[in-house]
Amino acid sequence: MALAASADTTNICSHCERAIPSSNIDLHYAHCSRNLEKCKICGDMVPRKHAEEHYESTHAPVCGSKGNNKLYIAF
Ligand SMILES: [Zn+2]
Ligand SMILES: [Zn+2]
Repeated sequence: MALAASADTTNICSHCERAIPSSNIDLHYAHCSRNLEKCKICGDMVPRKHAEEHYESTHAPVCGSKGNNKLYIAF
């Protein structure tokens, strides 16, 4: 029985909070912090380029019909 000693230690990437193999953490972090962005709504890591797309396809407000304003009518 061989216990894996420290062959594959992992670091937690402080940007995406994933466990990344230590040997890759530098590379990963550089890539991660540059390209990924945490969605403030669902917490998913989303490519910066697609942040808007992600928002629109995932969190876009449901407002199909005009003139049907049910949102925050507090009077
Ligand atoms: Zn990361
Ligand atoms: Zn999201």
